[in-house]
Amino acid sequence: PVVVSVRDVRRYYGHGGARVRAVDGVSAEIAAGQVLGVVGPSGAGKSTLLRLLGGMERPDSGSVRFAGIEAWPRRRSRPVLPRPGYVMPVFQDPRGSLDRRWSLWRSITEPLVLARGPLPAAERKRRARQALEPVGLDGLDVTALPGQLSLGQAQRVALVRALIAEPALIVADEPTASLDSTTAAEIAALLREAADNGIALAVVSHDLARLATYVDRTLEL
Ligand code: ADP
Ligand code: ADP
Repeated sequence: PVVVSVRDVRRYYGHGGARVRAVDGVSAEIAAGQVLGVVGPSGAGKSTLLRLLGGMERPDSGSVRFAGIEAWPRRRSRPVLPRPGYVMPVFQDPRGSLDRRWSLWRSITEPLVLARGPLPAAERKRRARQALEPVGLDGLDVTALPGQLSLGQAQRVALVRALIAEPALIVADEPTASLDSTTAAEIAALLREAADNGIALAVVSHDLARLATYVDRTLEL
């Protein structure tokens, strides 16, 4: 099934002569289990396209559909999602997804609570510990703060947070760019595994060689 599709989407910034055509008529779709890589030089519109694919920004024209449903009907200022937690973002800097004042267990389980409703703190800690096992972080203190982690650990935690409420779609903007090559390869393998488990993934990278190791298709801007 198609998880997200964009048709002839355009997104322009600014006015008149200073207008920037960030995304100028792009079409793409991603099915469950597929990884779409988005490549291109700096300023090509990769991040903007990713925000359009993730429903984080409204296109000026063209359509964005989640599971075939129009995401931006007229006069709606927020996107229509098939269910809460349908799409989750992953950023280059994991601190973009982890609040530095929040213990790991809280950051990790927040999407679960938003999608499914409240859970007692003890249960949230248990779920957080359990969710950390498959990314090799069992034994990590879930009461720690993000500042106590290495970048690689923090990106694993950010990934666990993105996956915990079982989204249909993950949009990742340069998720391995700030990591050393070994850690980057490990994160790439975890993203591929998430796709093999049925998630649709859009991933932006300027590094085509690295991307080529785990994407199904690339879209060049
Ligand atoms: P990339 O991710 O490929 O580097 P971006 O999508 O970030 O490209 O940006 C594409 C173009 O749109 C750039 O010229 C950028 O400066 C501009 N742009 C992106 N986001 C905004 C914004 N929120 N406001 C104004 N201009 C923007
Ligand atoms: P990248 O090239 O990795 O997308 P940037 O530093 O170009 O990173 O952009 C970082 C953020 O700032 C993005 O969310 C982008 O949309 C926004 N942005 C980029 N250019 C502009 C701009 N001219 N005005 C406002 N926001 C912008």
